[in-house]
Amino acid sequence: MSASQITGRVLIANRGEIALRIQRACRALKLETVAVFSEADRESRHVQEADIALCIGPASAAKSYLDPERLLLAARVTGATAIHPGYGFLSENADFAEAVEAAGLIFVGPTAQSIRIMGDKISAKRAMLEAGVPCVPGSDGSLPDAVEDVAAIAEAVGYPVIVKATGGGGGKGMRVVWSAAELAEAVSLTAHEARQAFGNGTLYLEKFMQKPRHIEIQVLCDTHGTALWLGARDCSLQRRHQKVLEEAPPCDIPAEEIARIGTLCAEACHRMGYRGAGTFEFLYEDGLFAFIEMNTRVQVEHPITEETTGIDIVREQLRIAHGAKLNLRQRDIVTRGHAFECRINAEDPRTFRPSPGLISRWDLPGGPGVRVDTHVTAGYTIPPHYDSMIGKIIVHGGTREEALARLEIALAEMRVEGVTTNLSLHQDIVAEPAFREGSVDIHFLENWLRTRE
Ligand code: ADP
Repeated sequence: MSASQITGRVLIANRGEIALRIQRACRALKLETVAVFSEADRESRHVQEADIALCIGPASAAKSYLDPERLLLAARVTGATAIHPGYGFLSENADFAEAVEAAGLIFVGPTAQSIRIMGDKISAKRAMLEAGVPCVPGSDGSLPDAVEDVAAIAEAVGYPVIVKATGGGGGKGMRVVWSAAELAEAVSLTAHEARQAFGNGTLYLEKFMQKPRHIEIQVLCDTHGTALWLGARDCSLQRRHQKVLEEAPPCDIPAEEIARIGTLCAEACHRMGYRGAGTFEFLYEDGLFAFIEMNTRVQVEHPITEETTGIDIVREQLRIAHGAKLNLRQRDIVTRGHAFECRINAEDPRTFRPSPGLISRWDLPGGPGVRVDTHVTAGYTIPPHYDSMIGKIIVHGGTREEALARLEIALAEMRVEGVTTNLSLHQDIVAEPAFREGSVDIHFLENWLRTRE
C-alpha cells in the first residue's frame, strides 16, 4: 500500500493511548496533527508531539472531549481538515459525525447514517437479519409498555433472558432475568437506568446465553466497493461486561467457520455502504454465531488484529477517510501466529477501585513480538477524571504457546510504582490452567474472581 497522495491536518478528538496511536498513524502518512486536550491532560505525550495543540476546556469530559461545539471550534481555528474521534467519547455519536461533515471536514469513520443504524441495537439487529447475519433470538423490536405483553415475549423466548437498552454501551443498561417473577422489576429498573445513562429508556430482550464466548470480526471498507474482514478476536475475558484480556485468533474455532461468518459481515457492509473500520460482535455457543452489536469505530483491542494480519488499521482508517482505495483483496489477508492484549488499568487488582496519581516508575517490557501502546511515562500523573486504562501490552508469537510465553515474560518485566495496577491480575490469569487451555466463556473471569475472594 503506498503512503502517497493524501494530505491534510487531522484533529484527534481524544486523549490517552489512542490519541498517541492515531498521531503515530498520521505522522507515518505525513498528515499534520492537531492535539486537543483538557486542562487535566496538558502533560500528555501526544500533546507535546503534535504540530498544533489546543486546550479545549476543563477536566470534565462533558466540557472538553464530549463537547462537539468546542471540538468544531478547535478544528476551525487550527485549520484542521479532518477529525479522528478514536474510541469512546464522541466516536459513535451520529450527530457529531454529521456536524463534522456539515462543517466541511472529513470525519474519520462511517457515515452518520451507518452510525445511527448501528448505534441503536434494535435497528442494528434488524439490519443484520436482513443481511442474513444470525442474531441472538429475542424480541422483535422494542418491548411493549404492558407488563403482560413483555411477559409473553419473555416466555416465548424462554428464560433466562437478558433485558437490554437499545441505546446501551460500555456494558451498562442490561439485566439478566431468570424467571417470570423477576421480569417486571428488571424491566422498570433497566429502563430507568437507561434513561439516566443514555437518555433513552427503550428496551429489548434476548435469550441470555449461559456459556458463550465473545467472538468479534474486524472489518475494513473503502468507498470504492471493497469490504474486507480481517479475522476474528476472542474477547471472552470480561468483568462486568468489560473486556480485560483479548486474543486473536480465537482458539478451537475452525478457520472455515470464521471465514463463513466473516464473509457474511463483509457482505453486510456492502449492503449498508459501510465505510471505514468496524467490528461485528457475536456470542458463540455450540458452534453457532449470534450477532449482538456492531461497533462503528476503532476498538481498544485492534492491535491484536494488526499483529496477526500485518495491517495497520488506523492508517487504513485515515486513508479510507481521505478517499484512498484499500490496496488489498480478501485473499491477501492471512492470519499469522497468535496475539494477546492485556489492558493495563490503574486500579486495585482485587477491589477494582481506580488508583489515579503520580507514576514514579514505569519500566516497559521489550523483546521480539512485544508491543506496548501507552501514553504514560514515569513522572506522569494519571488524572482521576477519565477511564483507568493507561496502556496495553500486546504480544505476538508464531503459535499460541509462543505468544503465551512472551506474554508471561512481558508481564513479569513490566514494573510500575506510585500507583496500583491490575498487572498482577493479568499474571494470575495467564498462570490459570483453564485460560492456558483456551476457549473459556464470558462468565469464566467473574466466576474465577469469585473463587479468589
Ligand atoms: P455493550 O454495548 O454495552 O458493550 P453488548 O451488547 O456488546 O453491550 O454486550 C456486552 C457483553 O454483555 C457481551 O460481550 C456479553 O458478555 C454480555 N451479553 C450481551 N448480550 C448477551 C446475551 N444475550 N447473553 C449472554 N450475555 C450477553
